[in-house]
Amino acid sequence: MLEKKEYAAQRAEMIEKQLRRRGVIDPVVLAAMATVPRHEFVPEEVRSHAYDDLPLPIGGGQTISQPYIVAAMTAALHLQPADRVLEIGTGCGYQAALLSRLAREVFSIERRPELASSAAAKLTQLGYSNAHVHCGDGTLGLPEFAPFDAILVAAAAPAVPKPLLAQLAEGGRLILPVGGAEHQELQLIEKRGDAFPTRMLEGCRFVPLVGYHGWQESS
Ligand code: SAH
Repeated sequence: MLEKKEYAAQRAEMIEKQLRRRGVIDPVVLAAMATVPRHEFVPEEVRSHAYDDLPLPIGGGQTISQPYIVAAMTAALHLQPADRVLEIGTGCGYQAALLSRLAREVFSIERRPELASSAAAKLTQLGYSNAHVHCGDGTLGLPEFAPFDAILVAAAAPAVPKPLLAQLAEGGRLILPVGGAEHQELQLIEKRGDAFPTRMLEGCRFVPLVGYHGWQESS
């Protein structure tokens, strides 16, 4: 086991080499990335790679995104301290922890019960008390807690799930990967009245969003 200090040094290097050099420069996002202990969220077997420039397996065939994608998606949302945020695909809880440092409240939905309960336990253990994990189909959103100022989808959608657009607050932002199984484009969508101006950001590769407004379960 490395010391806390050594993990902090690895985080500092990650921020410089993987984030700042690739154009993620928002000081508020970088400061939050410097505090969230990514190594605490990943499984023991891959802990020594927690700060590498890679996605990592988190069990059940799922992965946590590489630090750059987590940071770039978060920065694109331009979170404000009073914002309420919805995340789809809690996974190990790392992205939810990061969002919770930048917003007032985070609701995160995970469809796999074992991941939902371990992420919830980890977030509680580490004191991220404004991040709430729900188990269910995130393609339906969380209507009882809507509207949201920002929604981040951490799994690949075949098309934009309609309920998520409906649950955006006025001026709210939705970021999600849209495309096929092998490759997707990150889309940033804003709610402006009845219009949803959309920007394509960059190519990416996520695990599938499986649900009513996502991909069908294959097994
Ligand atoms: N943000 C996570 C990584 C997400 S990996 C982290 O920081 O660790 C994508 C996750 O989305 C997986 O855990 C997968 O089970 C989940 N997922 C896929 N489809 C879903 C759906 N319809 N609703 C909720 N979660 C879903």
